Amino acid sequence: MTLFAKIIRREIPADIVYEDDQVLGFRDISPQAPVHVLFVPKQAVANTDGLADDQAELVGRVVLAARNYARQIGIAQSGYRMVLNTNGDGGQTVYHLHLHLLGGRQLHWPPG
Ligand code: 5GP
Repeated sequence: MTLFAKIIRREIPADIVYEDDQVLGFRDISPQAPVHVLFVPKQAVANTDGLADDQAELVGRVVLAARNYARQIGIAQSGYRMVLNTNGDGGQTVYHLHLHLLGGRQLHWPPG
Protein backbone atom coordinates (compact mmCIF):
# COMPACT_ATOMS: atom_id res chain seq x y z
CA MET A 1 0.00 0.00 0.00
CA THR A 2 1.31 3.48 -0.82
CA LEU A 3 1.87 6.30 1.63
CA PHE A 4 -1.08 8.21 0.20
CA ALA A 5 -3.38 5.19 0.53
CA LYS A 6 -2.44 5.16 4.23
CA ILE A 7 -3.24 8.88 4.51
CA ILE A 8 -6.64 8.25 2.86
CA ARG A 9 -7.26 5.47 5.43
CA ARG A 10 -6.16 7.83 8.25
CA GLU A 11 -3.36 5.41 9.17
CA ILE A 12 -0.79 8.20 8.73
CA PRO A 13 -1.52 11.78 9.81
CA ALA A 14 -1.74 14.56 7.28
CA ASP A 15 -2.93 18.16 7.23
CA ILE A 16 -6.17 17.52 5.35
CA VAL A 17 -7.71 20.65 3.83
CA TYR A 18 -10.27 19.17 1.41
CA GLU A 19 -12.44 16.08 1.22
CA ASP A 20 -15.38 14.87 -0.82
CA ASP A 21 -16.67 11.42 -1.66
CA GLN A 22 -13.96 10.76 -4.26
CA VAL A 23 -11.05 13.10 -3.49
CA LEU A 24 -8.81 13.98 -0.55
CA GLY A 25 -6.61 17.10 -0.41
CA PHE A 26 -3.76 17.54 2.08
CA ARG A 27 -0.74 19.81 2.43
CA ASP A 28 2.54 18.61 0.97
CA ILE A 29 5.03 17.82 3.75
CA SER A 30 7.76 19.70 1.84
CA PRO A 31 5.98 22.73 0.37
CA GLN A 32 7.50 24.35 -2.72
CA ALA A 33 5.22 27.38 -2.58
CA PRO A 34 3.04 29.12 0.04
CA VAL A 35 0.18 26.96 -1.25
CA HIS A 36 1.21 23.37 -1.98
CA VAL A 37 -1.64 20.89 -1.62
CA LEU A 38 -1.84 17.34 -3.00
CA PHE A 39 -5.20 16.16 -4.35
CA VAL A 40 -5.59 12.40 -4.62
CA PRO A 41 -8.41 10.16 -5.82
CA LYS A 42 -9.56 7.83 -3.06
CA GLN A 43 -9.59 5.09 -5.69
CA ALA A 44 -6.02 3.87 -6.09
CA VAL A 45 -4.36 4.40 -9.48
CA ALA A 46 -0.59 4.72 -9.84
CA ASN A 47 -0.36 7.69 -12.20
CA THR A 48 -1.66 9.04 -15.50
CA ASP A 49 -0.01 6.16 -17.35
CA GLY A 50 -1.96 3.71 -15.20
CA LEU A 51 -5.32 5.34 -15.90
CA ALA A 52 -7.88 3.26 -17.74
CA ASP A 53 -9.73 4.94 -20.61
CA ASP A 54 -12.93 4.90 -18.57
CA GLN A 55 -11.31 6.75 -15.64
CA ALA A 56 -11.49 10.23 -17.17
CA GLU A 57 -14.03 11.25 -14.54
CA LEU A 58 -11.62 10.39 -11.76
CA VAL A 59 -9.04 12.88 -13.05
CA GLY A 60 -11.77 15.42 -13.71
CA ARG A 61 -12.90 15.19 -10.12
CA VAL A 62 -9.36 15.73 -8.87
CA VAL A 63 -8.90 18.79 -11.11
CA LEU A 64 -12.24 20.30 -10.07
CA ALA A 65 -11.51 19.67 -6.40
CA ALA A 66 -8.23 21.58 -6.74
CA ARG A 67 -9.98 24.31 -8.77
CA ASN A 68 -12.65 24.72 -6.09
CA TYR A 69 -10.09 24.79 -3.30
CA ALA A 70 -8.05 27.45 -5.16
CA ARG A 71 -11.19 29.59 -5.41
CA GLN A 72 -12.01 29.01 -1.76
CA ILE A 73 -8.62 30.20 -0.51
CA GLY A 74 -8.59 33.15 -2.92
CA ILE A 75 -5.79 32.32 -5.36
CA ALA A 76 -7.90 31.73 -8.47
CA GLN A 77 -7.39 35.28 -9.73
CA SER A 78 -3.70 35.57 -8.84
CA GLY A 79 -3.11 32.15 -10.42
CA TYR A 80 -1.73 28.74 -9.64
CA ARG A 81 -0.23 25.65 -11.22
CA MET A 82 -1.51 22.07 -11.31
CA VAL A 83 1.12 19.33 -11.80
CA LEU A 84 0.82 15.58 -12.38
CA ASN A 85 4.22 13.87 -12.19
CA THR A 86 4.47 10.46 -13.87
CA ASN A 87 7.24 7.88 -13.40
CA GLY A 88 10.94 8.52 -13.04
CA ASP A 89 11.68 11.30 -15.50
CA GLY A 90 8.49 13.03 -14.39
CA GLY A 91 9.83 13.14 -10.84
CA GLN A 92 7.17 10.88 -9.35
CA THR A 93 8.10 9.45 -5.94
CA VAL A 94 4.73 8.26 -4.60
CA TYR A 95 2.86 5.87 -6.89
CA HIS A 96 -0.69 6.91 -6.09
CA LEU A 97 -1.90 9.51 -8.61
CA HIS A 98 -1.75 13.00 -7.12
CA LEU A 99 -2.20 16.51 -8.42
CA HIS A 100 0.07 19.19 -6.96
CA LEU A 101 -1.70 22.53 -6.54
CA LEU A 102 0.97 25.24 -6.26
CA GLY A 103 0.33 28.93 -5.74
CA GLY A 104 0.67 31.94 -3.51
CA ARG A 105 3.75 33.25 -5.31
CA GLN A 106 4.97 33.84 -8.87
CA LEU A 107 5.86 30.43 -10.33
CA HIS A 108 8.58 30.28 -12.97
CA TRP A 109 8.51 28.55 -16.34
CA PRO A 110 10.11 26.37 -17.56
CA PRO A 111 10.28 24.52 -14.23
CA GLY A 112 13.72 22.94 -14.89
P1 5GP B 1 5.76 13.33 -6.47
O1 5GP B 1 7.24 13.62 -6.41
O2 5GP B 1 5.48 11.84 -6.42
O3 5GP B 1 5.03 14.02 -7.60
O4 5GP B 1 5.15 13.99 -5.17
C1 5GP B 1 5.14 13.38 -3.94
C2 5GP B 1 4.99 14.47 -2.93
O5 5GP B 1 4.62 13.88 -1.69
C3 5GP B 1 6.27 15.28 -2.69
O6 5GP B 1 6.05 16.64 -3.02
C4 5GP B 1 6.54 15.07 -1.20
O7 5GP B 1 7.00 16.25 -0.56
C5 5GP B 1 5.20 14.63 -0.66
N1 5GP B 1 5.25 13.76 0.50
C6 5GP B 1 6.13 12.74 0.70
N2 5GP B 1 5.88 12.14 1.88
C7 5GP B 1 4.82 12.80 2.43
C8 5GP B 1 4.10 12.63 3.65
O8 5GP B 1 4.35 11.75 4.46
N3 5GP B 1 3.08 13.51 3.86
C9 5GP B 1 2.75 14.49 2.98
N4 5GP B 1 1.72 15.28 3.30
N5 5GP B 1 3.41 14.67 1.82
C10 5GP B 1 4.43 13.83 1.55
